[in-house]
Amino acid sequence: MVDQEKIREAVRLLLEGIGEDVTREGLAETPDRIARMYEELFSGMGTDAGEPLSRVFSVDSNEMVLEKDIVFYSMCEHHLMPFYGKAHIAYIPDGRVVGLSKLARTVEVYARRLQIQERMTGQIADELMRYLAPQGAMVVLEAEHMCMTMRGVKKPGSKTVSVAARGVFKDNPLLQEHFFAMLRLQG
Ligand code: ZN
Repeated sequence: MVDQEKIREAVRLLLEGIGEDVTREGLAETPDRIARMYEELFSGMGTDAGEPLSRVFSVDSNEMVLEKDIVFYSMCEHHLMPFYGKAHIAYIPDGRVVGLSKLARTVEVYARRLQIQERMTGQIADELMRYLAPQGAMVVLEAEHMCMTMRGVKKPGSKTVSVAARGVFKDNPLLQEHFFAMLRLQG
């Protein structure tokens, strides 16, 4: 739960710091707007994915499950700027699966807090391993970081890709290749 008064105060100072007149009409509501927005953007703090991932159901087949193109928006902890893109999650069950919407919910929990992309990738994979206990899990995040593209360090549209492999994916290049081949499929 964010401290809205502190955020309002900080935004006023920030505006003064860049030389703005905090009393002008366009900015009058800005501190309050940002405080309310942060309530939502950081709503994943202090929670884990236990709740969505704890509802599992049994399957007979342990074929690889892949949920791709899960759109997410997060905030870079180094610059307080958005980074956003898609998450692709695969796992090989060990007799148990979760509803596909729960994977998206897990991404959401870890996106709605200050993050670095590499850590978020690992956290999603670790939560899957912890709650679902599959034979293995693999997570790929591809994202555009506003802190890079807005400042011209990288060209707009350039993507940062991060990978986390756990369990049987970890030391098995063939399985990893299978994952990337499935990612490339249409649809
Ligand atoms: Zn950054």
